[in-house]
Amino acid sequence: MVKNSSRAVGRHALHIPGPTPVPDRVLRAIDQPMIDHRGPEFAKVTKKALEGIKTIFKTNHPVIIFTATGTGAWEAALTNTLSPGDKVLTVETGQFGLLWKKMAEKLGLKPEVVETDWRHGVDPNEVEKRLRADKNKEIKAVCVLHNETSTGALSDIAGVRKAIDAAGHPALLLVDTISSLASADYRHDEWGVDVAVGGAQKGLMLPPGMSFNALSPKALDASKTSKLPKSFFSWDDMLNMNKSGYFPYTPGTLMLFGLNEGIAMLHEEGLDNVFARHNRLAEATRRAVKHWGLDIICQDPKCYSPTLTAVLLPDGHDADAFRALALENFNISYGASFGRFAGKMFRIGHLGDVNETSMIGALGATELALQMAGVPIKKGGAQAGMDYLLSDMSSGARKAAE
Ligand code: PLP
Repeated sequence: MVKNSSRAVGRHALHIPGPTPVPDRVLRAIDQPMIDHRGPEFAKVTKKALEGIKTIFKTNHPVIIFTATGTGAWEAALTNTLSPGDKVLTVETGQFGLLWKKMAEKLGLKPEVVETDWRHGVDPNEVEKRLRADKNKEIKAVCVLHNETSTGALSDIAGVRKAIDAAGHPALLLVDTISSLASADYRHDEWGVDVAVGGAQKGLMLPPGMSFNALSPKALDASKTSKLPKSFFSWDDMLNMNKSGYFPYTPGTLMLFGLNEGIAMLHEEGLDNVFARHNRLAEATRRAVKHWGLDIICQDPKCYSPTLTAVLLPDGHDADAFRALALENFNISYGASFGRFAGKMFRIGHLGDVNETSMIGALGATELALQMAGVPIKKGGAQAGMDYLLSDMSSGARKAAE
């Protein structure tokens, strides 16, 4: 925004890792007159949403839809499966791993924490080691994030499942997919996840305010004996009411119209194409960052996140001041920094309804903002990102023509 003007021209470039830009089609779908949430039309909308969301989690088991943000679905995953004093194994991949652990403590659970340097994903070998050491099988659940949004590290969930099985341990596997669902491949049934936690405001391209628990038969069994208090988040009531297409309370009715539209859009593009697009934009972003000579927070290329890239600024450069400068001058937002990287990094979101053209704009704006902020970089990072996009898209086009 020009300094002497009160109007930001054009669309805001929302490059935070969620909430993500809401496509016009989803906005139109949500823009409906209010209908009766106990009426026949609504039951149809709910049933369609409940079936549709299963295709995104890749599960044949029930998925619960909460009118709450992701934090609510975190709580639901814990309170429906566990009892006071239960031990849980958590991995502190970053700020969100830490927050889920803190929630477990507040709920009366006993977390055992696998610490990390916040620059890697979950190490399945460490999970296996901890579970093997738990001779009395006191650990009732392993809680991990598929994608750690605070650092940009994607973990190998199938590998964590294998680790639990290799240790011969009965713990449930609870997985946070909030910033990976519908943008990175996630296979609930195939990977043997017991409860997946999802959110609406990232890959599903909806506004915040809706979240999910995808279940397994083992999780449903655990819910029969779990003793942590739950009311609003109780799976029982939901599953009963959902059978007829309703909820135990007034759900976010319009969000369900939006969810059905978002799911339709994902299938029109094709889930594999959605994942490929996210990988392509992520790699273009990393090429730009590396060309600039800046450090990516995630240090393990196997775990590079398809949905965001966290960028470390050189010592002496304040990342919050940089974000403010970029917002003021280029109308672009990046994700903030947390914990041990507070003020030192910014996160470039490349998830949801983002295409090559908007990503090129974001990389160009970022390169300009870095220079304006006096961050020492090698110019041409945005071009390096574009070169990658061209090579990837041309080889895709060649393959399609063959
Ligand atoms: N888990 C992850 C991985 C997240 O990225 C977030 C939010 O960004 C949360 C949990 C919390 O979700 P919410 O802010 O929707 O409550």
